[in-house]
Order: sequence, then structure tokens, then C-alpha cells
Amino acid sequence: MNRYDPAVALPPLSPEYDPWDPIRSLRRYGRHVLTSVEFTVTNLCNMRCEHCAVGDALTMTEGARVPLADVLRRLDEVEHLETISITGGEPSYRESTVKDYVVPLLKYARERGVRTQINSNVTLDLSRYEMMAPYLDVMHISFNYTGADDFHRVGFVHAGHPVGRETAVKMYERMMDNASALSKGGMFVSAESMINFRTHEHIADIHRLIVEMGCKRHEVHPMYPSAFAAGLPQLSLDQIRGAVTRLLDERDRDLWMLFGTLPFFACGDDPDGLELVRRLRREPNVTVRNDPDGRNRLNVNLFNGDVHVTDFADLPPLGNMERDSFDAIFAKWLDHPLNLRVNCHCDEAACCGPNLLVADAYYRDVDFKSRRATV
Ligand code: SF4
Repeated sequence: MNRYDPAVALPPLSPEYDPWDPIRSLRRYGRHVLTSVEFTVTNLCNMRCEHCAVGDALTMTEGARVPLADVLRRLDEVEHLETISITGGEPSYRESTVKDYVVPLLKYARERGVRTQINSNVTLDLSRYEMMAPYLDVMHISFNYTGADDFHRVGFVHAGHPVGRETAVKMYERMMDNASALSKGGMFVSAESMINFRTHEHIADIHRLIVEMGCKRHEVHPMYPSAFAAGLPQLSLDQIRGAVTRLLDERDRDLWMLFGTLPFFACGDDPDGLELVRRLRREPNVTVRNDPDGRNRLNVNLFNGDVHVTDFADLPPLGNMERDSFDAIFAKWLDHPLNLRVNCHCDEAACCGPNLLVADAYYRDVDFKSRRATV
């Protein structure tokens, strides 16, 4: 495993240094290697968002997890580990999960010089997030709202029972207060918004609230049909391009903007799409991240040890951590026919191909392996 000298300060995350982007390891090793492991630590959540990409996996109760010692042993084996992500559900839903799994995983990472991210809705008690603060690199929150009514409309669609406006408003305010307090305390809060049928015309207003909360980064992804989002209207490429352009025009230029899973490629044949690719490269403080899913990352379900290519893949598990090392499972994925369909690479465009959901949603008939970047 890679070693870290704790006397050497870890480099700050910045537009120049984003260890989640698989283009870095692809360039460094000349092939895709596993540098990132994501753990699903819970399937419980206090919300049921309309667009939830793991909505089908959410539960009301859950059983025992794989022992932490087994998890750490498997992590020790990952030769090139650079990042760990923790996701759910809402990872802080139970305080015991934070104490028994989240904090120990974060501590392990910090001791090894590995960078960490947790995906949270930050609507619960501030103290749960403060417990993570000393060891956490990125607090990743979802933020798709222009106000409390939006939050109420979107956040409980699949709750199975009505959630009153007053309850929703309290949660919304707690989320805003927590994000502001954590940011003020020095935490790197990265707010993610999705571009979808609800947000695409209001994305600049959403951006302004993220700036107000003091977040260090605004991460933006189009929404793709997965789990709860599968039945929602899909935007056209023109609508997505319009939303990205609006954001670029109206953004706060001091805030790092990270775009991911964009459906615009340097090999495209639409001049407007190519112009947007060029503009994204020119804009200061703006990055476009290649998608880690299936490029440098695997997802591990901590309840049964199953390993998937993403936390929202419809594919059967690629393996199980009880039997196989993470590196061995990743090697198996590299030869998988689905990976071979989209694992193109144009280094001059800093691109290593589309995410599978993107290819399926917008480019079903395109053979990316036969294309090359033209800009
Ligand atoms: S790597 Fe693939 S998707 Fe990216 S520009 Fe090249 S051919 Fe297109």
C-alpha cells in the first residue's frame, strides 16, 4: 500500500488538484487503476427526494455491517488508494454509524494520507458533522433549492406519507445553518446541484444561495435516469447546455465550480456543444471532472460486502469483499464488456470517456471507441 509521511502537509484540494478525477491516475500509471473506494454505510435516510439516485435501495431498518477490521484489511491491500468516499442513505442518520464506521474510516484515511468525502444532507444535529470535521476533506451536500418550499416539494416525494410544511422548513433551515456553520469553521463544504427539469431555469439562483452559505465549491451534474429519477422527465442536450451557460454567465467567479458527468465531449459533432467544451476550458476556477465511476472507483456495500461499479448501478455485483481484494474486483471490471464500450481516452482533451448512464441517455448509437477529440 502507498505510505504517507505525516510530517508532509497534504496539498489543498483546488481546481489544480482534484484526486477524484481519474485522468490523473490514468496519466500517472498509463492505465486505469483503483484509486478510490466508496462505502455505502447506511440505507437509512430522513428524506425521500424525488430524484434520489439510490432511492430504490433505501430502507426503514437495517442489520449488521461487515466488521470494520475486515474493511480496513481490504483497504490496506489497495495499492494506489488516494480517496475514500462515504455515502448512504444519510451517513449521519444514526450517531452510532458516525462513531463506529464513519469516523474510524476517516481517521484511517487521514493516517494514510488518503483524501475523504462524505455525502450528506446535513439536516441532522450539527454535532454529528463536527465529529467528522478533524479528519474530513470534503463535506458533499446536495442543494437543489431556491427556498424552503422547493425543499418541501422535492425532499419527501417518496416518503409514503405526507410531510408537513413546518417540518420541512425546520429541516431546510437546519441544513442551511449547518452548512454555514461548518463552512465558517473551516470545513470544505461542496454543494452539488443537479440540472434537471425543476432546476435548469433556476440554477443561477441556487448558485447564489450556495455562495451565501459560504461553500467552497459548487458541483453541478445533469440528472440521469436512475432509481427514483428514472421516471422523471429528461432534459434535452440544448436545455442542459442552456443551464451550464447560464451558470457560467452568472456565477461568482471566486467560487470553484466543478462540473461532472456532462454530456458534451471534445469528439462531439454539434458545434454548440463543442463551443461549450472550449468555454469550460477557458473559464478560470472552473473544472470538468471525468467521472470516477468505473474509471478509478468501486462502491462497497457495507451490509453484505458486495462490490459494485457505482452505488446506483443496476448491474449485479462484480464481486464480494469477503472473497476478493478490491484491486482484483477492479481488474475484472476493466475487462467487462460494458466498460469496454466506453473506455475511450483522448489525452489532449483530458477526457477518458463518458459515464455509462450518459452514453445510454444521449448517445445510444454512438461508438465512442471510434471517435477522437477534435477540439
Ligand atoms: S475520450 Fe472518448 S468521449 Fe472523450 S473526447 Fe475522446 S472519444 Fe470523445
